[in-house]
Amino acid sequence: MTEIEKKLNDHSVRPTAMRILIYKYLAEQKIALALLDIETAFTKADRTTLYRTLKTFEEKGIVHQIEDGTGITKYALCEPGCNCEIEQDLHLHFRCNNCNETVCLTEHKIPHINLPDGYVAEDVNLVVTGICEKCSN
Ligand SMILES: [Zn+2]
Ligand SMILES: [Zn+2]
Ligand SMILES: [Zn+2]
Repeated sequence: MTEIEKKLNDHSVRPTAMRILIYKYLAEQKIALALLDIETAFTKADRTTLYRTLKTFEEKGIVHQIEDGTGITKYALCEPGCNCEIEQDLHLHFRCNNCNETVCLTEHKIPHINLPDGYVAEDVNLVVTGICEKCSN
């Protein structure tokens, strides 16, 4: 069994050829990808299959969604052991105004956010915009 097959199995996702390819593609990219980017990379696959694959990955905790303010949902692989839990796994995202790429800053967790009494946080989406490392050089 390959490492990817094992990873998918660990998340109770049956490792079909398509899922393996998409996982591999996501792992190779250093940036968050929109459905359109994945469609462009897999021109032979139909859109619904790609979308369903991403949804399955998301439900099983293999990828997380990112709303980076562009109005286009992007996806990136979760770190090993991630449960997408607030105050544990959720990290900052950074969108570059120059190259428009969005990256996960997984080392930088979202800090605790104080809410008024009676409010319960379920998700936090924190995107920093600016100039990325690549563009500032
Ligand atoms: Zn996650
Ligand atoms: Zn940039
Ligand atoms: Zn992320």
